[in-house]
Order: sequence, then C-alpha cells, then structure tokens
Amino acid sequence: MLHIGCHLSPSDGLLSMAKTASELGADTFQFFSRNPRGSKAKALDPSDAAAMQAYLAEHRFAPVLVHAPYTLNPCAGKAETAEFAELVMRDDLMRCTAMRTPFYNFHPGSHVGQGERVGIEKTAALLNRILTDETDTTVLIETMSGQGSEIGGTFEGVQAIIERVERQDRVGVCLDTCHVFQAGYDIVNDLDGVLNAFDRIIGLQKLRFIHLNDAKFACGMHKDRHEAIGLGQIGTDAFSRIVNHPALKDLPFCLETPHDQLQEYAQEIALVRGLTK
Ligand code: FE
Ligand code: FE
Ligand code: ZN
Repeated sequence: MLHIGCHLSPSDGLLSMAKTASELGADTFQFFSRNPRGSKAKALDPSDAAAMQAYLAEHRFAPVLVHAPYTLNPCAGKAETAEFAELVMRDDLMRCTAMRTPFYNFHPGSHVGQGERVGIEKTAALLNRILTDETDTTVLIETMSGQGSEIGGTFEGVQAIIERVERQDRVGVCLDTCHVFQAGYDIVNDLDGVLNAFDRIIGLQKLRFIHLNDAKFACGMHKDRHEAIGLGQIGTDAFSRIVNHPALKDLPFCLETPHDQLQEYAQEIALVRGLTK
C-alpha cells in the first residue's frame, strides 16, 4: 500500500497532529521541528510524544519526517549564521531522538559566493560534529532546485556531502520531485533515466523519503515553486509513474503542495492513492 501524507503543524500537540493525519487519509506526515522562520522551539512534552508514537504504531503509520527550519544555512560564510544552524540542528536531533522520529530532513544550504566545494565541505563538517552517539536520528539531505547558490542541486553535489560523512548509517536523502525537476532532472519524460542516475551517483539505498510536489515552472528553470499535484508542469501521468515505480513505491511520500484548507490535502491524498496500480 502507498504511504502518503502531507505537511502538518504540531501547534495543537503531537498526538493531535497524528490524529489529523489519520482523518486526512494519511499514513505518514512531516512537520517542522520548530517555527520554520525562527529558532524558537516549544518545550517537548514527553507524554505527548509517547502518545503520538503509540498512535502511529497502532494505526500502522510509515515513518514520519521532521523538517529543519528552512531559513538555516549550514554552510554559511558568516560564522554566526553557520553556528546558529549547528546549534538548532544539534538540538533538533536531540528532540527527534526524544520523540523517536527516525528522520530529520534539512536543506544543505547556500554557499553565497564561497563556491560549491566550500559549501559541501562546511555542511559535511557540520554533520560530522552533530551526528554523535547521543542521538540515533538519521539526517536526510533534501535534493534542491539549484536556485541561487544552493548546494545539493545535483546528485553529484548531494553525494559529495554524503561521502564526507563518517556516520554512513545516519545519512540519507529526501528526494523532492519539484526540486529535482527544477534542477533539470526530467522525471516526466525519463523517470528511469533519472533514477538510474541517482542509483549510479548516490545509490538508491540512501533514498529514504519523497517530497511529492508538482512544479509551477518547466524542467530546469531552477525556480522552487510548488504546485498542487496534477496542476503543474509534472502532471498526473508522471505522478502515476512515480508512485508506482518499483524503486519508489514502498517509500513514504509527503505532499508539500500549496493549499489553504486541510480538507484539500484529504482530496489530494485520495487522488494520489487513486493513481496506484
Ligand atoms: Fe524542504
Ligand atoms: Fe521539499
Ligand atoms: Zn521547495
């Protein structure tokens, strides 16, 4: 069975969020570790976290994903900015461990003029400092669209970070369909070719999660603008091939599509489930 969900907010608590996911027809979801723009994290309630885990197990959820604030820049040139990213990510890994959420997804950062190589070295070094034995969470590097000076916009760039990480058991990839399409990987006309490239360069065993988003712009435009499934440049037929692909179909999929109402995610989850063969 397809594992799919959407991005949710834990504002009413972790258990409440899991119940909302269930009501939407989801069996996985993603949420921000803290305010996505800022740094403030609510104190973790261990009993709420335990209640969420019991609920997820009882309802046979696939693994859920915690997303780092997207404003962090782990490879920033400015020392305070990079140190702030490290502080937040280190704390988030402790929170994930306490919540028993297995995966922590982050954007590898923007090199802002330092050059891609320096960005890669800095992000990998940060991972090596925070992947300690105090936590058991696996970090997932999100594939990026290559907007501006983003690193992680090519499979080679993602692999260059991964191969520098000492704890190979604690690092993986979250593939965002909008981002890879924007980065120039044509998942509409050559899904097999793109996945073969991923396997050759990174290895499909590193792929742990999929962000399922349509894209507002054409392939290779490097513009990170998501669209609802079927309404963008990727389109329903391509999503049907994606969710049924033998290399992908058992992974958890998470929608990050633009909708105002939660109910629209219920419809979109049903739509994607309807694409499975
Ligand atoms: Fe993201
Ligand atoms: Fe994403
Ligand atoms: Zn995006």
